Amino acid sequence: MIGDISNDVFIRIQTDLLVVGDSVMTDRHHASNGNYEDDDPQNQIGGIIPAFPLSGWLRHGMERAVHECGGTACHPGEANANFIKDDVYDRDLDAGYHEKGACTNDPKEDDGCVIFDLFGGFNSVPGKVMRRPIKFNPVRSGVDYTRGQAEGHYRRLNRNIVSRNQEDNREPLRNAEIDAVANLDGCWHLSFREMKPEFIGLLAKSVNFLDAHKTDFMHQLGGARNFGAGIVDCDLINPLYEERELKRVFDRGKSNTNKMDEKDDQWAEEYRPAFVNALEQRIEER
Ligand SMILES: [Zn+2]
Repeated sequence: MIGDISNDVFIRIQTDLLVVGDSVMTDRHHASNGNYEDDDPQNQIGGIIPAFPLSGWLRHGMERAVHECGGTACHPGEANANFIKDDVYDRDLDAGYHEKGACTNDPKEDDGCVIFDLFGGFNSVPGKVMRRPIKFNPVRSGVDYTRGQAEGHYRRLNRNIVSRNQEDNREPLRNAEIDAVANLDGCWHLSFREMKPEFIGLLAKSVNFLDAHKTDFMHQLGGARNFGAGIVDCDLINPLYEERELKRVFDRGKSNTNKMDEKDDQWAEEYRPAFVNALEQRIEER
């Protein structure tokens, strides 16, 4: 069954507003010809959302899915690191985590827990899932969903911190500029270096989890959660779809073909349960 699944899998991501702490990389320098005004709504610039915040968001969802199956997950921090908050780290270890790499004696021989297997551990051990950045473009027709791209509108937001003294008449104390992407809708492309049924089972379960918990502070994406940014609708695009079917998902003028509906039924009734079962078995064996 796993042979029917390509190593390239796509997650649909939709959010009204995203602010990522690492900031968004834009191509405005190319597009603006030196005349870029960041508050001009006419500016049509695209950019890249780096994979780091996306990866952390997904990993956290995957860790929770492992917990739901009764397992513990690799902690993301090196066990021998000098944590600022050692007691908080110890509390994590009591709450469904084990020390990073404690699940394997020799990472070259033994894959460890499923989180270790996917995300890798130490320098020479790469994870088996490669997380890519999302390239976004404000012009829908320029978006290639099959390459993990999205429609999205870049804005630079300004925040003024003003004086609270009446006589200052709201004089600004400081000004902060924030990169934001609005109305993001597209695909996040994950590539598996090696495919295993439990990987897809875990991905399917965690994407469901993240979608169901999208308004929880813990499971929003990026760094402006107090302001309603980073509430993400997410959905694993049926891995049985072919490229043209994936494109059709984003075509507002078209609905599912009969073949797509058939694949959705197959996915829900046969594939997904088999992959989730493989995940549960792997976790039980530990
Ligand atoms: Zn582990």
